[in-house]
Amino acid sequence: MIVFDLACDNNHPFEGWFGSADDFDLQAKAGDIACPVCGSVGVTRQLSAPYVNTRSGNRQADESQMVSVANAAQALKKKFIEHVLSHTEDVGHRFPKEARRIFYKESPERAIRGTASNQEVGQLKEEGIDVMAIPGTPAFPEKLH
Ligand SMILES: [Zn+2]
Repeated sequence: MIVFDLACDNNHPFEGWFGSADDFDLQAKAGDIACPVCGSVGVTRQLSAPYVNTRSGNRQADESQMVSVANAAQALKKKFIEHVLSHTEDVGHRFPKEARRIFYKESPERAIRGTASNQEVGQLKEEGIDVMAIPGTPAFPEKLH
């Protein structure tokens, strides 16, 4: 198998594995190779030296795109945490017990938050109870040993 650097007629770069160069030609002519980004079958082989087509302008665009995606993730995370904090009942250290009671329908079904040790979280998950650690909240006392 050999790997080829490919690009579609919209300049989306991607890679493809082929048995041989002839394989690529046959599949490309048959329209069997489609760009994973836009689905175009107008695919051509690129020079395989990895950095031949890299232009500094493109690199900068890629980098700023990454930054804005990271910011969006941060904003989403913050929103998510705010949502969780305002839509859950704080049960503190009773969390593992209360989560279990809700799961087994011994307690009214609702969203709760609280603290649990890694061990307690592991036990809850083993019982099939879905719990989730919220990043950015104060560390659990059990973790500070
Ligand atoms: Zn494309």
